[in-house]
Amino acid sequence: NGLLSGDSTLGSCLPNELGNSFRPLRVSSSRTRLARFVTLALIAQKAEYIWMDGQEGMKGIRFNEMRSKTKVIPKPLMAGSTNFPEWSFDGSSTGQAEGNNSDCILKPVFSCPDPIRGDHHVLVLCEVLTPEGKPHKTNTRRLIENLLSDDVLEQETLFGFEQEYTMFARSGHPYGWPDAGYPAPQGPFYCGVGVEAVYGRPLVEAHLDACVKAGLKISGINAEVMPGQWEFQIGPAGPLETGDHVMIARWLLHRLSEDFGIICTFEPKPMQGDWNGAGAHTNYSTKAMREDGGMTAIKAAIEKLSKKHKEHILEYGIGNEKRLTGKHETASIDTFKSGVADRGASIRIPLPVSLAGKGYLEDRRPAANVDPYVVCRMLIQTTLKD
Ligand code: ADP
Ligand code: MN
Ligand code: MN
Ligand code: MN
Ligand code: MN
Repeated sequence: NGLLSGDSTLGSCLPNELGNSFRPLRVSSSRTRLARFVTLALIAQKAEYIWMDGQEGMKGIRFNEMRSKTKVIPKPLMAGSTNFPEWSFDGSSTGQAEGNNSDCILKPVFSCPDPIRGDHHVLVLCEVLTPEGKPHKTNTRRLIENLLSDDVLEQETLFGFEQEYTMFARSGHPYGWPDAGYPAPQGPFYCGVGVEAVYGRPLVEAHLDACVKAGLKISGINAEVMPGQWEFQIGPAGPLETGDHVMIARWLLHRLSEDFGIICTFEPKPMQGDWNGAGAHTNYSTKAMREDGGMTAIKAAIEKLSKKHKEHILEYGIGNEKRLTGKHETASIDTFKSGVADRGASIRIPLPVSLAGKGYLEDRRPAANVDPYVVCRMLIQTTLKD
């Protein structure tokens, strides 16, 4: 464990058989980070290049999942730099190119400390370019960049992304569920505590720790309504930042699930029957909404969103029709409904926002497997551009 020995608070929540493959950095100020970086600068740096693939894959439910590979950088760069070299990958193996012209390009757009490898190692988020150097059709990040004109930037849009996910055991059952039959009906699990109510917390804690140490704008976690289902929140943050941090947080979840032997899926309706699905409620505000009297801007945005319901639904995740049934805290996929404190609405105005007369709105329609760049782009497009 070398330099980092003794600074892990995570050891206590790792199952014994997993050993110590998870070795986080200690939380450090930017000054101590710089000092550490200087001492380590002569040691080559491991940069994990991460990107979004192009495969719908397994059962049609996997959508824009993550891929990554490691590049050793002989002369280390600081975490946060975007000057990491471009790289390429075999796009024919990720659903992003044909075999006869398969080299897609990875262009670094965001980097942060790697909380798993520790030291000066980094995670490098990349956008994908075609062999010709044009943005790939899976490069939804670039579409936001193109939308950020001065009038949009003036509105200082903020997003809060509630990422729900479900844990599965290798047996194919949701994690913690009995091998035969079902757990107790939904009720005690949401924000629950206790061995009979909560399944998988050690992974959740390790993931939160990793996100904090990577410097992501993670704002909370909670156990969800269906046992084995969890949520983390990213934000409030700008549109690109939201997308970048959600992508890194998703990658960290998948990466840590390897160590814990627990499968994490963003499938919108993993269990049929009387079980909640998994969504990605997206909270959204503009400067006008956050100022005094902002309710007028919130209502105007909702009015615009009501006219583009179908367009949004088409982009809000694969398999979302199984989740948006009108039950289990959703509005039916065919209807647009808004309301104060209404968890059966498409758009909810949170009660504190209604009381203050300003703040933000919550779009409850996106599925857990939605592309966060797409949700942010569509909310901006519909409310500020159309
Ligand atoms: P819920 O009650 O729906 O479960 P959460 O607490 O899970 O709500 O998520 C609310 C999210 O909204 C958080 O990520 C928070 O950071 C975000 N948020 C708070 N204020 C704003 C704002 N003004 N604009 C956008 N997002 C916001
Ligand atoms: Mn090879
Ligand atoms: Mn929530
Ligand atoms: Mn939730
Ligand atoms: Mn919510």
